[in-house]
Amino acid sequence: MHEMSLAEGIRTIVEEAAQAEGFGKVNAVVLEVGELAAVELESLRFCFEVVMQGTLAEGAALTVERVAGVGWCMSCGESVPIKALYDPCPKCGSYQVQPTDGTQMRVKALDVDGAVERAE
Ligand SMILES: [Zn+2]
Repeated sequence: MHEMSLAEGIRTIVEEAAQAEGFGKVNAVVLEVGELAAVELESLRFCFEVVMQGTLAEGAALTVERVAGVGWCMSCGESVPIKALYDPCPKCGSYQVQPTDGTQMRVKALDVDGAVERAE
C-alpha cells in the first residue's frame, strides 16, 4: 500500500529528529499535503496509527494542512490554480500545464516533549 510506505517515511523522519534533538515524546505531527499529491488521507491516517505503535510517536495526533494546487500554463504564460494533476488550464483550456505547487507531502512540524533536562 502506497500510504503505508508514506507513513513509514514519516516515522523515519520523526525518529531521526528525536535522535538529533533529544526529545522523548511526540504529541502531534503536522503534515503538509498538496492537493495534487496522490495521497488518500483516510488511509494515511490509519497507516500512521499502525506504524507509530511502539515508537515515541505512539498515539500522536496527526494534523494535515492542505496546499492548493498550482500549475504553470504555457499558453497563458502564468500560474493558474488547478484541482488535479493533468487538469486543463481554467483560463484557456490548454493541457500544457506544468504543476508547480501542491504535489508535495512533507512533515512540517512536530509537537514534542523535551527529554533533555528532566531528571525525575
Ligand atoms: Zn492557460
